[in-house]
Amino acid sequence: MLTVKTPEETLALIEEQFSCLAACEQAPLAAALGRVLAEEIRAAEYVPDFDRSTVDGYAVRAADTFGCSASIPAIFTLQGEVAMGESAPPLQPGHCLYVPTGGAIPAGADAMVMIEYSEDYGDGTIGLSKPAAPGKNIVFRGDDVQPGQLVLPAGKKLAAQDLGALAALGWAQVPVRAAVRVGVISTGDELVPVEETPGPGQVRDINSTVVSALMQRCGAEVTCYGIVRDDRRLLRRQVEQALAENELVLLSGGSSVGMKDATCQVISELGELLLHGIAIKPGKPTIIGKVGNKPVVGLPGHPAAAFFISHLFMRPLLYRLQGRRTVSYQLPARLSEKLSANDGRTQYLSVSLEQRGGEWWACPLRAKSSQISNLAATDGYICIDRDTEGLAAGALVAVTLYSAE
Ligand code: AMP
Ligand code: MG
Repeated sequence: MLTVKTPEETLALIEEQFSCLAACEQAPLAAALGRVLAEEIRAAEYVPDFDRSTVDGYAVRAADTFGCSASIPAIFTLQGEVAMGESAPPLQPGHCLYVPTGGAIPAGADAMVMIEYSEDYGDGTIGLSKPAAPGKNIVFRGDDVQPGQLVLPAGKKLAAQDLGALAALGWAQVPVRAAVRVGVISTGDELVPVEETPGPGQVRDINSTVVSALMQRCGAEVTCYGIVRDDRRLLRRQVEQALAENELVLLSGGSSVGMKDATCQVISELGELLLHGIAIKPGKPTIIGKVGNKPVVGLPGHPAAAFFISHLFMRPLLYRLQGRRTVSYQLPARLSEKLSANDGRTQYLSVSLEQRGGEWWACPLRAKSSQISNLAATDGYICIDRDTEGLAAGALVAVTLYSAE
């Protein structure tokens, strides 16, 4: 009998049953883009490590500028200039020091007056025409980052700006996760490879390509094992090999109840069946099993369903194995047509996006899960809550984008 779970229960099961299987390795900072951080990064230093000016101007004691104005400037003796990349001498009473943007603030100074509010009298004195409050135009030591502060969480996929934070803190080598290896197998007597012309009753293998591409885009190292006939012994052998060589094995086809459906049997023979069926359309006949600590998943055969299930559940599963956080990006859009009420189930609908008059419109694709044309047109999906009484045309919906990793 099928044990069917809701999408939420399925995600919870993935969290519970599986854990990170990817080793930690060191990557040079410049090669760390797009890699997954293996550890959280906490600062060991202050950033900046010294008080710095945010403007070109004069470092002063703020109190010395109080009450000055354009008509009655405050007069200071010019003590000199702070050079970039060098420390500043202490500020003497009644003096000012020229400091460029990013230069060090001298001890004794507590404000910067912008050069725009100064006049150089040419006799060694400077007139300042704008009072400055203490702290004005200064970034103090540790204003940006304090020692011990969390800078990047473990599991984050490193973006260019993250590398900047790591550079600031001196992380020339970054602890990252190795890629998770994923084995992809297509099953079905009717399947032929892409380069062949299908004979009567045959179709080309679509899922190997789609599932591999999606997993690859999510950072996996994919091995494609091609097509396996609907034969339990052959399938078992292929799954065993894939399990030996990968951390995750994804099969497609043969996951519904049927004489020829061998996936379920093979998983139960090799390990433990955790789930058979997700209460979701498209994609109900999905199997999740566990052999040792590795997941083996039977995806639905219909290509659109295989893609959808991969996006919804295999991406989080892959990320779980890689210790990576799952982030989804949503785009607010208006519904292009009315949708009728749910049958008490959370409903997922693939949509294509169109921009009209500065707004995004989500156009539901109401095709069967087997239709390829719709698979190619799809940009994302909307999720309609089980309690929703249908949605009017023009209603605001959140489209989860397929393009975002
Ligand atoms: P199954 O889950 O094996 O019952 O397959 C359901 C439907 O999906 C059938 O029409 C299969 O021909 C089709 N199908 C299964 N696997 C693939 C694949 N790799 N590429 C294209 N179509 C497939
Ligand atoms: Mg089949």
